[in-house]
Amino acid sequence: MNPLKIARSGMFACALTALIAASVPPALAQAPAAHKTENVIVVMIDGVRWQDVFRGADPELIQTEGPAALGGAKERTAAAQAHYWRDSPAERRQALMPFLWSVVAVEGQVFGNRDLGSESQVTNGLNFSYPGYNETLTGFGDSRIQSNDNIPNPNVTVFEWLNAKPGFKGRVAAFGAWDAFNGIFNRDRCGFLVNAGYDPLTAIPATAELKQLNTLKAETVRIWTDEPFDPIMFHTAIEYVKAKKPRVLFIGLGETDDWAHSGSYAEYLNALHLGDDYLRQLWDLAQSMPQYRNKTTLIVLPDHGRGEGAQWTSHGRDIPESKETWMGFLGPDMAPLGERKQAPAVTESQVAATLAALLGEDYKAAVPKAGAPIRDVLPK
Ligand SMILES: [Zn+2]
Repeated sequence: MNPLKIARSGMFACALTALIAASVPPALAQAPAAHKTENVIVVMIDGVRWQDVFRGADPELIQTEGPAALGGAKERTAAAQAHYWRDSPAERRQALMPFLWSVVAVEGQVFGNRDLGSESQVTNGLNFSYPGYNETLTGFGDSRIQSNDNIPNPNVTVFEWLNAKPGFKGRVAAFGAWDAFNGIFNRDRCGFLVNAGYDPLTAIPATAELKQLNTLKAETVRIWTDEPFDPIMFHTAIEYVKAKKPRVLFIGLGETDDWAHSGSYAEYLNALHLGDDYLRQLWDLAQSMPQYRNKTTLIVLPDHGRGEGAQWTSHGRDIPESKETWMGFLGPDMAPLGERKQAPAVTESQVAATLAALLGEDYKAAVPKAGAPIRDVLPK
């Protein structure tokens, strides 16, 4: 990441904005744009590198076997090569994330490909999870948040802010594999459903499916003490969507980061591939329900990046490139600009105001220190 490049493109964007603003009559500039988005789904996939999203499986890393402790490391690596290795980066990324590359990057927009001059990053300076989720969900980094401890967030997320508005009251929900989402969203204060970690979902009448999911969540082997496997959480969220049809939904997938810290590139790729399919499943479900069809925007992004080469397993303040992220947007209001090239730099701190603006709400006016909405994904 070249900070000078960001500063320059930022200055250029400011100059351009000033030029455009000067040429637009004030009445026109103030008119709120009509928007079709009535629901927003945010999917965050923990610690997924832009390198893997845009270039597909990494030729250096896919050769390495996972830790022996996983068992069958050689076989896992061979299977990952068969699933995700292709001759060109374009084929590799298509094999890894078919929904992102066939649908989001065609009908929506994807930011973060440095190879094409598109930057996306966190601004919190720490490059790990809680600070990244806080920045993305509130619109600003907070120096009080210095750890991943599961403590109540002193800040109000854009989800909590929306839930306090009449049109959204009771129509907001958050699901996350990681139990720290209870703290990040401040479950005990926020006023909407947060279901995270190994907690069963009891907020809706138990269907047969939900009973099974709660049982699996309780009984499946706990590789990680702070989060179950993603599929159990994801399908629990789907049960909730069918029952309660939330207007603003968060889904936090965690396995990518866990497998990466464990050193298994094969399982990291598998978790990312599954995450991509969950985007497809969410999108297909949304298009099958009158509440969501043609009036829902999907946002996908990680909470931080990771290192390169031998440092790929880690991230944080000491690995500067782990501030580099990516983000995808798909919905009825945005121009289909696809994979962004030579685009203005975007930051995770802009996502809160962007998702509010898609719903016609001005979060930036209410929380001035939040990043400004990303104009390119809003209706013109
Ligand atoms: Zn993380």
